[in-house]
Amino acid sequence: MLNITFHWKLSQIPERAVKKHCKMCGKLSVFTDTNVRRHNANGKSIYKYAIYKCEKNHTWNKKLAIYKTFSEHVAEIEEQKEEAPIMSAISITSLAEQGVKVIHIVLDEVIGTHRIDKVLANQIEDWSRSQIIEKIEKGAIQINEQVIKPSSRLSKGKRISIFI
Ligand SMILES: [Zn+2]
Repeated sequence: MLNITFHWKLSQIPERAVKKHCKMCGKLSVFTDTNVRRHNANGKSIYKYAIYKCEKNHTWNKKLAIYKTFSEHVAEIEEQKEEAPIMSAISITSLAEQGVKVIHIVLDEVIGTHRIDKVLANQIEDWSRSQIIEKIEKGAIQINEQVIKPSSRLSKGKRISIFI
């Protein structure tokens, strides 16, 4: 059985969730801020967006600000992480293809309060929050080898195990 271990540092991220109709889902969904910011130049203006995602990972760009530019040739699109924790996204599918059966995540640092289901939904690319909740309830996601609840809080020194 192949195991892989990640080390995470969780920092304080303000809670940013918005209830909004999702066109793709066709219903009212909760959109969460991914902390990714995007600047789009359009003529003489630069638009700053926050990228929000619904529970099914549909994207919504929330306009944060408009800046005027004085340059005619601004046409760059940039994407950047802002105040985001130093953690890379996990793709379960590609790890499974490599033969990984268990993913361990060691929490080297935890600042603030973090629910396990939310943190994993943000970091795991190919599982939605509802899939993650289901796996937690089935015991396929554990903390320190114990079955937990989706609302369980993360703290420093603990180890999350995900059984693929
Ligand atoms: Zn959606």
